[in-house]
Amino acid sequence: MTDSTESTGLDFIRQRIVSWLRTAPDGAQVVTRFPPEPNGFLHVGHAKAICLNFGISEEYGGPCFLRFDDTNPLKEDQAYADAIMEDVRWLGFDWGERLTHASDYYQDFYDCALQLIHTGKAYVDSLSPDEIREFRGTLTEPGKESPYRERSVEENLDLFTAMKRGDFADGELCLRAKIDMASPNINLRDPILYRIRKATHQRTGDEWCIYPMYDFAHPISDALEGVTHSLCTLEFEDHRPLYDWVIEQLDFTSRPRQIEFSRLNLAYTVTSKRKLATLVDEGIVSGWDDPRMPTIAGMRRRGYTPGAIRDFCRRVGITKKENIIQMGVLENSVREDLGEVAPRVMAVLDPLKVTLTNWPGDKVEMVTAQNHPAKPEMGDRELPLTREIYVERSDFMEEPPRKFFRLRPGGEVRLRYGYIIRCDEIVKDESGNVIELLCSFDPETRSGSDNQRKVKGTIHWVSATESVPAEVRLYDRLFNVPRPDADSSGKDFREHLNPDSLTVLTGARVESSLTDAGPAAVQFERTGYFVIDSKDSAPGKLVFNRVVTLRDSWAKLEKQQLGAG
Ligand code: ATP
Ligand code: MG
Repeated sequence: MTDSTESTGLDFIRQRIVSWLRTAPDGAQVVTRFPPEPNGFLHVGHAKAICLNFGISEEYGGPCFLRFDDTNPLKEDQAYADAIMEDVRWLGFDWGERLTHASDYYQDFYDCALQLIHTGKAYVDSLSPDEIREFRGTLTEPGKESPYRERSVEENLDLFTAMKRGDFADGELCLRAKIDMASPNINLRDPILYRIRKATHQRTGDEWCIYPMYDFAHPISDALEGVTHSLCTLEFEDHRPLYDWVIEQLDFTSRPRQIEFSRLNLAYTVTSKRKLATLVDEGIVSGWDDPRMPTIAGMRRRGYTPGAIRDFCRRVGITKKENIIQMGVLENSVREDLGEVAPRVMAVLDPLKVTLTNWPGDKVEMVTAQNHPAKPEMGDRELPLTREIYVERSDFMEEPPRKFFRLRPGGEVRLRYGYIIRCDEIVKDESGNVIELLCSFDPETRSGSDNQRKVKGTIHWVSATESVPAEVRLYDRLFNVPRPDADSSGKDFREHLNPDSLTVLTGARVESSLTDAGPAAVQFERTGYFVIDSKDSAPGKLVFNRVVTLRDSWAKLEKQQLGAG
């Protein structure tokens, strides 16, 4: 955070908006837009841009457009557009009537191009794409002018209309701005404005065979919609002179300004649609909504809440400084959000059978459990305690270290909401694996009774006979290095995949109240927050995703790794 953020509580973009509003004419509104390209699912970085644009709209009372930047017919798909709308809505934002597409403005772009040709600011080039690249020069060398640069207005008009008619093949001709081939800013070396693409567009079909470039279409779309602040990420900073050039050449009543902020980068994952698409296409993950994906759809299926993601974006803030945010920051927002609202339940992920040898036969005793220890208003529920129960395998050790306060041979532990039990005997199979514990319970120690004999450990449990089976999926970081896509050794990001990012536990047991669990997350006491998997869970087959652990076990590791890097 910058000092000025601290003094006003506003980031630098909001500060600019506030001072713009101060000098703007009466009734002027701040107008923003979120302009995704429908060529993939939105990720957590997009969430930051959504929260910024729609957030400003809410805070300053102006409209925010959801504009699909659909100028590349080859890569785009309506299915992505639908997924994007679902994600923006799920995050809690509403574009109302302001759903637009760059393709709505194809005629306007074309008319603007004609205008530039008329004023001598654009020309049709016959150089091939390779030659254009060659002529462009480098950062240290100026470019070379195309031999076609001085075509007459008439010739340019003829050729451009012929391009539009479809008289030429892809790459044969293009329309370029006439700016300055010697500009130190490569973006101003006669950038391409239009190219031929004989492809069917998902919305305009075969109506057009020439398509505008982003740098041409974007400022015009902004101006047409009356956008006042066109907010984008830092990689567009060098494009701003071109953005301004386009606006200056055309006579718009509205003058949008482009302001850049730093991208959100999250440690241990990638936020590039292209790389995420690779993970999907190669079957490395189960889809765009795989709960390990940093996509909004993945985070939703994982059980993250819109409130947690918005809170995270607020914490990350808006600056111009490139940095990398630790996953723990996002997970903390999730934990805080769920900690308040998620009901507590008991579930055993890796069950070990315990028989209470002095328990009367098939007696079922109901014990009272709180739904939230800090929120009595969330009520209680009754849990059946029976002769056979399951406890977590990791809560027993045959030869425990000194500070192990859970079950051990001859040791005592309290069953949460139940009794103190003592481990009397261990049952093993032929290979020596512990398969059952024979324990006795102390009937004088029922939880909440007067006799409050104390033991150090309390463990969770479920009845063996009254619980239900479930599959539980535990997720870990998708990559095992903080910056999988910025590897100085030149390795492909896929070489850094974490082979243990998914652990499936098929034998878990959960309390029967979860048989018809809704879509909201619950806390499995001691093991984390969990949510029903919206895709794979079905009546009779419960599947839970672990949303997040109860504590941040990664904080230390990340600090070491990032600190060293
Ligand atoms: P990617 O690099 O993942 O393919 P993109 O920038 O090509 O993303 P767009 O659909 O063009 O994806 O992005 C829509 C908007 O979201 C743009 O204004 C872009 O600046 C913003 N955006 C994209 N990635 C991030 C990010 N990591 N952090 C913040 N904003 C982002
Ligand atoms: Mg883009």
